[in-house]
Amino acid sequence: MKIILLTFCLLAIIGFALSVFLVTWSFAKKISWIKAALFIFSYGVLCMGILLFMIDRRKPNLMKRIPIVRSIKKSESKRNCDCTWSSLTLEKEDYTAHKTSAKRITNGMYITNEASRMKWIGRRKLVPVDEADGFGISNLDYSSAHLTPLAKKRLYELGQRFRASIQNPDEKKSYFMVSSITRSQVQQTQICERYPNACTRDHSPHSYGVAFDIYKVTSSGRNCTIGMSALQEVLTQMQREGKILLCPESKCIHVTVCG
Ligand SMILES: [Zn+2]
Repeated sequence: MKIILLTFCLLAIIGFALSVFLVTWSFAKKISWIKAALFIFSYGVLCMGILLFMIDRRKPNLMKRIPIVRSIKKSESKRNCDCTWSSLTLEKEDYTAHKTSAKRITNGMYITNEASRMKWIGRRKLVPVDEADGFGISNLDYSSAHLTPLAKKRLYELGQRFRASIQNPDEKKSYFMVSSITRSQVQQTQICERYPNACTRDHSPHSYGVAFDIYKVTSSGRNCTIGMSALQEVLTQMQREGKILLCPESKCIHVTVCG
C-alpha cells in the first residue's frame, strides 16, 4: 500500500507543477486555454489508470477455483448424499465451545477483513488448502481455501482416514465435499445478510481459520451408505480423540479443529 501512496503523492506533485506551468503559459498566451485544460485532463486520466492498475495487481486471488483431484471421473456414475443432522448420527458440541476453542488454539488470530487475512498468510499462520485424498472443495463464494497448519493437517487426516475406512472396492473412490473454509468477518457479515437465520454473526470459528463445513458425500457405488457410515465413523473417532468438535446443522456438518 505504501508504494501506491508514494506514487499518488508523486503524481499529485507533478500534476500540480504541470497545472501551474500550463496556467502561466496560458496567461502568457503561449498556449490556448482549451489545450491547457486538455493536457491537464489527459494527465489526470493517465494518473487514474496507473493507480487503478497498481491497486488491481495487489488484489489477492483468493477465490480461484481449486483444481479438481477427486477420483471419480465425470463419465462414471455417482451418487451424492447430503451430510446433515438428520442423515448422520453425530454428537453435537455446543457452538459456544467451538468459538472458545477456536479463539484459544489460535491465540485470538481473528480474521476481520482481506488485509488481516493477507497478514496471517504472510506470517504462515494461514496456509493454502487443496483438494486431497478423500475430499473435494466446492466453489468458495464466501470463504477462501486457507486454514491454520494444524487445521489443514486435521482435514487431510480426516480425508485419509475416511478413504482407509472404506473396504469395499466399489466405494473406494468415494469422497466428501467441503463447502466453506475460512471466512473473514466481512464475509461472515455478507453471509448473514443473505441467510439471516443460518449464520453466526460474531466470532465464528471460520474467522479463526480452524473450521470447515462438510456438506455431501459423493460415492461411486450404487448408493452412499458405505461412504456415509465411513464419514460418521471417522468424525466420531476424531471427536473422541479430542482433535475436532462437531456441530451437525440442517445443511452441513460444521467441524472445528481443537487439538
Ligand atoms: Zn461452519
